[in-house]
Amino acid sequence: MIKFEEALKLVNSVNFSLATVRVDINQSLGHVLAEDVFSDIQMPPFNKSAVDGYACRNSDLKNTLEVIEVIPAGVSPTKSVGPNQCSKIMTGAPVPIGADSVIMVEDVEEISEKKIRYLKDDVKDNICYIGEDLKEGEKVLEKGTPIQPQHIAVMATAGAVSPLVYKKVRVAVISTGDELVEPHFKPASSQIRNSNAYQLVAQVNKIGAIPEYIGIAKDTEESTREMLLKAFENNDVVLLTGGVSMGDYDYVPQVLNEMGIKLQFKSIAVQPGRPTVFGIKNNQFIFGLPGNPVSSFVQFELLVKPLIYRLSGYAFKPPKIGLPMGVDYRRKKSGRLSWLPVEINAKGEVIPLEYHGSAHINALVNARGLIAIPVGETELKKGTIVDVRQI
Ligand code: AMP
Ligand code: MG
Repeated sequence: MIKFEEALKLVNSVNFSLATVRVDINQSLGHVLAEDVFSDIQMPPFNKSAVDGYACRNSDLKNTLEVIEVIPAGVSPTKSVGPNQCSKIMTGAPVPIGADSVIMVEDVEEISEKKIRYLKDDVKDNICYIGEDLKEGEKVLEKGTPIQPQHIAVMATAGAVSPLVYKKVRVAVISTGDELVEPHFKPASSQIRNSNAYQLVAQVNKIGAIPEYIGIAKDTEESTREMLLKAFENNDVVLLTGGVSMGDYDYVPQVLNEMGIKLQFKSIAVQPGRPTVFGIKNNQFIFGLPGNPVSSFVQFELLVKPLIYRLSGYAFKPPKIGLPMGVDYRRKKSGRLSWLPVEINAKGEVIPLEYHGSAHINALVNARGLIAIPVGETELKKGTIVDVRQI
């Protein structure tokens, strides 16, 4: 058994190479940028009206103004604005030469068809100036950015319609256990539904990797080996749950060894998730996660997610926020690092979830994060600030 910190270090120090691909901007969500992105234009590309109104000269605001043209968005002005003149202008249209302000339509009285008067004293210029958001050639996104919808808007603006990205990581998911049936069926006595595989597929999807569900392996060496061979065919990472404890039918570590997979660790001093296995097969990686759904969920968050993100080209740092405990928490044993699923109440306080063992699947329903209780510590007092690792 190794310490959790050592296990994490082993996972974080694996060697791998990153492959890149150009994708259409609409396929780029969830990929990580493999190059910096620069803008090929300035933004705005012209002095742009921020409001619907009249473009005029600030020095003329007290006078009656003559309306000389109407400028819709997408149309260039044909006239320059002179003394006591104005052009009616729509939001997003280019401000005509000669005008230094746009007065809002709401603040104007139409005296006649071509004459207006400003009803207020002062005005903001209401102009978005050429290049004030972006300069041509300016770097707008950094290599290593995990692409979110707001980055796609920036790429669209900058004309970067086929960004170079890292390939998505392919992740196989296998469940093991003779007691398992797929959730589509009602379990007979002595059976339970396979929840882990579906949870893992969703966890993989959520972080932008591509899951492949392989199926349920029987508790035999042959079945475990057969599923593993299939899983390794097309995937970068294999996740397998169950079969890693000390039971008579827990074949996973043995089969992995026989397949020539170098096991980096077989159990970790962590709770939940002690029987977690990690191995390397050339450029591929395998986690044997505990069968208990809570343990599997937590160890995915703690060990698998950082690896998948790194293989995706993203230097992931788990997001944490410091919040006060809303209740006293006590545990009996303190020999292992413990990760508790917690919820956050309306007052912004941390409440550990009622959690009576790592098979307690619905304990996680309201989980917003995980908090760590270090080795040697047994209690957390109400009001203590704890780091909540967001999930
Ligand atoms: P194991 O590590 O195979 O001994 O499994 C530990 C516990 O987790 C047992 O109670 C299993 O029935 C349960 N378990 C294993 N795999 C799954 C799964 N895919 N979905 C739900 N529970 C599981
Ligand atoms: Mg089992």
